[in-house]
Amino acid sequence: MQANPLLGLIAQLKKLPGVGEKSAQRMAFFLLSLSEKEVAEFAREALETRRRIRYCERCFNISLAQECYVCLDSNREPGTLCVVADPKDIFAMERMGAFKGRYHVIGGLISPLDGIHPDVLRFSELRSRLVSEHISEVILAINPTVEGDTTALYLQQYLEGCGVSVTKLAHGLPMGGDIDYADELTLQKALIGRVRV
Ligand SMILES: [Zn+2]
Repeated sequence: MQANPLLGLIAQLKKLPGVGEKSAQRMAFFLLSLSEKEVAEFAREALETRRRIRYCERCFNISLAQECYVCLDSNREPGTLCVVADPKDIFAMERMGAFKGRYHVIGGLISPLDGIHPDVLRFSELRSRLVSEHISEVILAINPTVEGDTTALYLQQYLEGCGVSVTKLAHGLPMGGDIDYADELTLQKALIGRVRV
């Protein structure tokens, strides 16, 4: 008996986040409807992006150059840094559009059980930037989870005496929720109503 000819392709597509059997099947048939050239273009774009992407040397956002497009944008307000765990949170904040400062990606959240201790996160790089970029406010846009709260508390203590005000996004973000999944309006309200840590 011949195997399902789409089996391999569907298995790959199901690796994408939020894609189940049904969506994978639909995508597989869509790909079949494209010309060979279009499929090659699709695959090449994915591969090329994966190959070329690097981390911004200043904020650790993903970037195609030494510094990312946010850091290079001279229209950004100086003096404010938004601290996020992961580059995908920058994309969520940018979709919302109300934040005009720059970012700093710490690279995760403190979680001793998973071996993520403060020394593996980019805290010292953050502290250096406070001085070199004359930062007056650090806004923590960190998911309201146990790890997120632990990290926020640690950062608040770590930055004490640096002369910056440390605030975090207001509640309204669902507890245990993910910044990446918050809608733009909720995120905007959370930014406006930010509170001191
Ligand atoms: Zn950057």
